[in-house]
This record gives sequence, C-alpha cells and structure tokens, in this order.
Amino acid sequence: MDKPVVVIGAGIGGLSAAIRLAAAGRRVVMFEQNATVGGKMAEICADGFRWDTGPSVITMCHVFEDLFAAAGRQMDDYLMLLPVEPLTRYFYPDGMVLNLSRDLPATLRQLAALDERDAEGYLAFLAYAARLHRITGSVFIYDDPPTWRSLLRVAPLDMLRVDAWRTMEQAIRRYAHSPHLQQLLGRFATYVGASPYRAPATLNVIADVELNGGVWYPQGGVYAIARAMARLAAELGVEIHAGCRVNAIREANGVVRSVLLADGTVVEAEAVIANVDVATVYERLLTPTPAHIRYLNRLKQQEPSCSGFILLLGVDGQHQELAHHNIFFSADYAREFDDIFRRGVPPADPTIYVAITSRTDASHGPAGCENWFVLVNVPALGSTYDWSRSDYRETVLSRLAAFGFDVRGRIRHEQSLTPVDLERLTGARAGALYGASSNNPLAAFRRHHNRAAGVRGLYFVGGTAHPGGGVPMVVLSGQAAARLLLSEVT
Ligand SMILES: Cc1cc2nc3c(=O)[nH]c(=O)nc-3n(C[C@H](O)[C@H](O)[C@H](O)COP(=O)(O)OP(=O)(O)OC[C@H]3O[C@@H](n4cnc5c(N)ncnc54)[C@H](O)[C@@H]3O)c2cc1C
Repeated sequence: MDKPVVVIGAGIGGLSAAIRLAAAGRRVVMFEQNATVGGKMAEICADGFRWDTGPSVITMCHVFEDLFAAAGRQMDDYLMLLPVEPLTRYFYPDGMVLNLSRDLPATLRQLAALDERDAEGYLAFLAYAARLHRITGSVFIYDDPPTWRSLLRVAPLDMLRVDAWRTMEQAIRRYAHSPHLQQLLGRFATYVGASPYRAPATLNVIADVELNGGVWYPQGGVYAIARAMARLAAELGVEIHAGCRVNAIREANGVVRSVLLADGTVVEAEAVIANVDVATVYERLLTPTPAHIRYLNRLKQQEPSCSGFILLLGVDGQHQELAHHNIFFSADYAREFDDIFRRGVPPADPTIYVAITSRTDASHGPAGCENWFVLVNVPALGSTYDWSRSDYRETVLSRLAAFGFDVRGRIRHEQSLTPVDLERLTGARAGALYGASSNNPLAAFRRHHNRAAGVRGLYFVGGTAHPGGGVPMVVLSGQAAARLLLSEVT
C-alpha cells in the first residue's frame, strides 16, 4: 500500500489539513497523543454542567463552510453555526453597559450617547477595518505565507493603507473619541494574544471579522466543530489514532522518512504534517543537528503571546443581565497590558471575559443554574510569577463582585486552569494561547512558514504557523499546508 501522509496531532489545524488531503485522494493517518481530538478545543462535563475549555468566540463562518465544501459536503449537515446576539455585552467600571449588536442602528444609538462623534467614528472604523481585510486578506491570511514579493501584488495606494507602523491603539484614537469605545476596539488585540498598545494597527482587521462578519455559536457547544471535522475526516478515510503519541520524526539526507510512535512502532511516511508548536518539533521531535539547534534558538527568542487563567464555574442562579459573551473591563487598560507584557505578572485589575453558553443552550447546566467560563489574559510562563502560590482566583471573583456579580457563595462546581495547566494539557509552549506574540509590525513575516526549512516533506499547521492562532486561522493553516504538500509531494 502507498505510504501515507502522517499528521501529528488532531487539533483543528491537523484535522483541517487531513480533510483537505483526503479529499484530494491522499492516504492520511493521524496520531493524537490525547484520548480525544480537538487539542485546545476541548470540553468538560461535571455535576450536570458542560463547558468548552478553550475557544468560545467563533468568527469567519465562511472558513468552515469552505472546508466542508472542499470535501464536497454541506457544512450544515455536520455543524450548525448559530448567530449570537448581542455579539458581546461590555461592562465598564463606571457602570456603563454597552451591547455590541448585529443591529447597527441600535449599536450606533448607544455609541452616540457616549460621545456624539462616536456613531460616525464607529462607522468609519468599520469601513477602515473592512478595507484592511480586503487589502491584507490575500497576502497575510488566505494564501501562502507572505513574502516581500507577494506584497508587490498589493496596489501601491493600498500598500500605504496596510497601517503597519502605528499601533492598534493609535489608529483607534483617530476614530473613537470616548474611552469606552477606544477600550472596546482595542480589545481585539487579545484575539491573537497581543497588546493594543504595541501590536501594529494592521491587526484592527480582527475587528472586521467580528463586528462586520458576526460571532457564531456551534449548536451543542464549540467542541461540536472538532467533532464535526473528525466525522468528516473519518468519512473521507482518514485513520485517526487517538492516545498515540509520536516521539520522533525521522529524516534521512534532509528528507522525512517516518515517524516513531511512543510504543516503538515506526510508521513510514510519504510526508509529515506537524500540528505541534513549531519550536517543540525542533526541540523534541527532530534529530538535534547543528542547523536545527540554531533554528530552535531563533524560535525561542520570539516573545510568546499571552496565556490565560480560566475558571469553570457551575453557578447556582440565573443572571438575566448577562449575555452569552460578556466583558468586564479594567479601569486602566494600559496598565493591564504593562502587567502582562512588561512586568510579567497577572494584571492586578484584569479585564474579565465570561461566556455562559447555557444562556443559548439550557442543557449546559442544571435547571436554574449557569455554566460560567471565566477567562483572564495573563502572561505566558516565565520566571516572574509562581502559579503554585497564587490566589488569583480571589482577585478575579472579587472584581466580578465589584461589578455586582458576586457568585462566591453560589458555586456548585469549580475548576481552574492556569498557564501551567494549559502548557501541560495542550502542549502550548509557556501556555501561550496563540503561539508567538503579534506585538511587532513584522510579526506576520516572522510567523513560521507551513513548510519546514531544511527538511523536505515536513509541513506545519496550527497556531504557531502561518497565518497564526485562532480557530478559523488554524483551519486556514491546514489549507495552506495541504496546498503546498499537494503541489510538492507527488
Ligand atoms: C483558553 C483558550 C481560549 C481560546 N479562545 C479562543 C477563541 O475564543 N476563539 C478562537 O478562535 N481561538 C481561541 N483560542 C485559540 C484556539 O483554540 C487555537 O488557536 C486553536 O484551537 C489551536 O489549534 P491548533 O491546530 O494549533 O492545535 P492545538 O489545539 O494546539 O492541538 C495540537 C494537537 O496536537 C497534539 N500533539 C502535540 N504533540 C503531539 C505528539 N508528539 N504526538 C501526538 N499528538 C501530539 C496535541 O495533543 C493536540 O491535540 C483559545 C485557546 C485557548 C487555550
């Protein structure tokens, strides 16, 4: 039988690549070290509650539709993506509450009440973000990794509009006047684990995918995406081996030959796709040649994106004032990002995200209860903070109490996940949620190519490879790697 393409890891990027390759007629075998597929996209059920433990905000619905269409299927037969309304409810320390809605007139009315210039400023910002998406999409998102040459495809006038030399926050201040709207628009930096005070304004494109494109909730929970993709992959003939760790990628004369499983089995491979942090591949899976070690050292110098502190709470009682997605903002946003990226400590006054899927799907908690997924951005693991001696839970719960949501006496079930747990459970280096940070104008060029340098037949997918982290992005990374492999490995 033909040697298969081996995919290491059944995260969303690995599943996406496997689907594309199998749909193109390749034989694909996947090895996933965990008992279940999905990687960072995971779910936990306990005491009658259900939580998604990783991603919760799903955007760019068309990316998922395209994936199913590429395999000759209709997404709706596998996965129902329901529009979420409001997109997000924002709570501010001064008592202001804003509902960002698909209903544009309703959103504009709220913004005009903050500052009469903000309705037109918001509309201009939406147009600016949509323009960024149009200009950068083909070069930075939907195609092969960018090169200086591919930038030449951008019209000269558009090139000036890529807006890479201001920070996100500097650009936002040109459109938004009230500090409330400025903070709200700056938050999109955290969708790639970055700081709005350092990330290039080009990343205001993220606001376009949510504010113009909408937020989607997969019926049954976000994990339904992983389940649907695994089902499609299996139907296309992909062999998925869960509970099977790959210990090494073997090469000869610079060409990938096989992978070595933890049980000692050697699997010959036509090519290998690694859905593993790129630095981890060079550190643990490839033979440490001088060239690989030099390359690894370069990768290690990259600043990681932020990590997360997570509380999964089964809460007694219902809160009609809360929506599906809620944000509780800090009083000093600049200080918060300084804590994360300069001081390397969890913010003393954090912005807190609370997702309650039971508001959309009542079966996710017992009657009269809510399933809170609480996420705070914190630094990736370093030497400055010791999570084993942390009482950060108390900081987070008392901040929520200050907003009027004191659940401390009404918690029926509780689990917490620190960056240490995220690193252990998901393999993310330093617990970074989105690979290397995007706090640099050249981040898109530094992100790893989907093809390995110096090892023929080895490809990368996932949050540390082009085009970056986030669920739709890693689906696209699978598409990019499959496209390269199909054209290069015949
Ligand atoms: C708490 C949290 C919140 C997030 N929120 C959002 C959000 O709201 N919206 C959004 O779009 N994104 C969000 N993200 C990011 C998103 O989840 C990730 O970008 C995406 O799921 C990563 O997919 P991936 O393809 O990189 O694979 P990963 O999820 O990293 O999976 C890699 C897989 O490879 C397996 N593996 C690794 N090494 C081996 C080996 N040697 N052998 C076999 N298997 C191996 C791992 O077990 C894992 O299953 C969030 C992430 C986290 C952790």
